Amino acid sequence: MRFDVLTLFPEFISSYFDFSIMKRAKDENIVELNVVNPRDYTENKHKKVDDTPYGGGAGMVLMPQPYVDAYNSIEKYDNSVTVMLSPQGEPLSENLVLDLARYSQIIMLCGHYEGFDERIRDIIKPKEISIGDFVLTGGELPALCLIDAVSRKIEGTLGKIESANEDSFSNGLLEYPQYTKPRNFRGYNVPEVLLNGNHKDINEFRLNEQLKRTKEKRPDLYEKYLKEKS
Ligand code: SAM
Repeated sequence: MRFDVLTLFPEFISSYFDFSIMKRAKDENIVELNVVNPRDYTENKHKKVDDTPYGGGAGMVLMPQPYVDAYNSIEKYDNSVTVMLSPQGEPLSENLVLDLARYSQIIMLCGHYEGFDERIRDIIKPKEISIGDFVLTGGELPALCLIDAVSRKIEGTLGKIESANEDSFSNGLLEYPQYTKPRNFRGYNVPEVLLNGNHKDINEFRLNEQLKRTKEKRPDLYEKYLKEKS
């Protein structure tokens, strides 16, 4: 999987690959990162990439020329998708992450300030993706959320692929409670069933816990799960 990220703040993105699981995935060539700064492509003699909005209003709008030219400079794979991080996009979900993980290249456009000149959308025609109904200062954190979530679905990124298969949302439910050592922590005990080595009992306990906590914390998911099961 190759990630190409258009951003005015390249270090913001590249530094995420200096740590932990993402670092290992990059070092082992499971994922590849290419960060492009539209400022390097601006034809403006003052290196400007934004300007005031036509029609008035607060803030600065990202100009089309640096973004479109930076985008055009990127080598496109056959199996490639272009994403614009935007609060107006389709909400990111586990299903959308799985869809995106099928591509071999994801090109991402990160906005800033007041966002993009509309002609960037008109020309590039990206898929718009939001990470939630709130507004951030820039598209870098949303891009990293997407990169991280998609990378977890690629074989080899995690130590054992099973660790992603059992996470919340993978079977439509939230994950069961997890425990590690010690058995007794300040009077709080690990449930007995997890200690007896009986996998049938353990699986039954875990599924019941998944159903219980999904019903409690996310009734919307619980209803959907029941509907799909019936
Ligand atoms: N004026 C825009 C609007 O109201 O739709 C918001 C611009 S926002 C301040 C600047 C940039 O941050 C956006 O262009 C986008 O790339 C990113 N951004 C902010 N919130 C986001 C969200 N919830 N999901 C994805 N990207 C977001």
